[in-house]
Amino acid sequence: MTDSPAIVWFRRDLRTGDHPALLEAATRARRGLGLFVLDDALRGPSGAPRLAFLYQCLRDLDAQLGGRLVVVRGEPADVVPRIAETVGAQSVHVSVDAGPYGRARDAGTERALSEMDIEFVRTGSPYAVTPGRVRKTDGEPFKVFTPFSRAWRAHGWRKPADTGPSTLDWVDFDGGTGVPDDPSHGADLPGAGEQAALTVWENFHRERLADYQHHRDRPDLPGTSRMSPYLRWGCVHPRTLLADLGDGAGAETYRTELAWRDFYADVLWHRPETARENYNPKFDKLAYDTGTAAAERFAAWCRGETGYPIVDAGMRQLLAEGWMHNRVRMIVASFLCKDLHVPWWWGARHFMRHLVDGDLASNQHGWQWTAGSGTDAAPYFRVFNPTTQGEKFDPDGAYVRRYVPELRDIPGKRAHQPGEIAGYPAPIVDHAHERQVALDRYAEVKG
Ligand code: FAD
Repeated sequence: MTDSPAIVWFRRDLRTGDHPALLEAATRARRGLGLFVLDDALRGPSGAPRLAFLYQCLRDLDAQLGGRLVVVRGEPADVVPRIAETVGAQSVHVSVDAGPYGRARDAGTERALSEMDIEFVRTGSPYAVTPGRVRKTDGEPFKVFTPFSRAWRAHGWRKPADTGPSTLDWVDFDGGTGVPDDPSHGADLPGAGEQAALTVWENFHRERLADYQHHRDRPDLPGTSRMSPYLRWGCVHPRTLLADLGDGAGAETYRTELAWRDFYADVLWHRPETARENYNPKFDKLAYDTGTAAAERFAAWCRGETGYPIVDAGMRQLLAEGWMHNRVRMIVASFLCKDLHVPWWWGARHFMRHLVDGDLASNQHGWQWTAGSGTDAAPYFRVFNPTTQGEKFDPDGAYVRRYVPELRDIPGKRAHQPGEIAGYPAPIVDHAHERQVALDRYAEVKG
């Protein structure tokens, strides 16, 4: 046990409870320096709502550390070793970052630290099972979700780590910049930070988990947990949720959704290039529309003005809340890829700019699944019909009326009919026609 402080470098683990890296730091040092680096490489692509949520999470963490969270701006491979040397730290502790950028950043930082004889210690990850661990019996990674989820359950996970704000004595450090002011944005964001995450979870667990399997596909009902922003920033560890789930059909379905999150992180860990490229390279041959007309249709999709009510409601929910219901994410993504024939990565980029829960693994692979180019050989011939999807999953039209005021006076499921409504756009494309175009193009890819 050393008297010099250990550094706990927070990234996607903005909490003190169930924090394996914090626990590991406490086996080596009594005192700790809590650090967060504002890294322009990550700030650049993040939209204002996600940054504002991040800053609010940092303020919550800072309060937990007695106002001693050190926030600095700069290149991590320079900043972290410099601070570690200044305070005489012998170790820097992190949760594993499994994303392509994070892995390269951490390798660079580790090299710089090792030149100073300071240890870089990775403990735990933002996932129930660290990406790369669950493998087939022959050691190969899984390419399909269902067998992965079986093996994931069989692998299991540890109990939550017993940590909190007083696991280390946090030291003062002069030279931080403090948490920046929130950038301006118009989104209605949820409360941020660890306590907010636990409160949202407790309410969901008490009131909605039992019916989760029935309601999770209904955007008109408050049927899902809305935990995604908290999981994205690590305000809570998924193991905390898994330990609390219990039995029953709702709990079982929820476990499966957390398995999807782990699965996509695992896929990205093995195939980092799939953040930008098709998982299935056959799809590189797919013909897209990219001219001015496509750009205009894409812009209408972004604004929520396609003339298809469920699509427009989803896109407007994204702008209003920095979040969108999962079923509607699938519908709007299908519409972009298969009705507008626009490359999936245009849509993925728009999502990443606006989603508070924007996460490279879940987002890029959620898009690729919809586009047909991803894992699980998603049937490329499945083209969602936006009208019947709306009628099925928002049967009274309550969701579309909530987000598309032009439809407020259209009763019941009639609100899902595209058509001539004063002040509301006429459909920008004909679904039946575009569906056939998509099928013909996909058939060419499949050869
Ligand atoms: P719940 O239904 O309560 O699910 C609980 C948790 O399970 C979620 O918080 C999430 O962490 C995980 N989960 C659920 N479904 C999925 C899924 N399909 N893939 C991965 N994890 C899942 N999720 C993100 O966290 N970030 C993204 O950037 C993201 N982009 C997506 C893009 C597309 C095109 C699609 C189809 C899905 C995307 N998802 C993304 C997955 C899913 O839509 C969200 O996780 C979910 O809507 C979050 O709401 P919730 O917390 O209420 O979910």
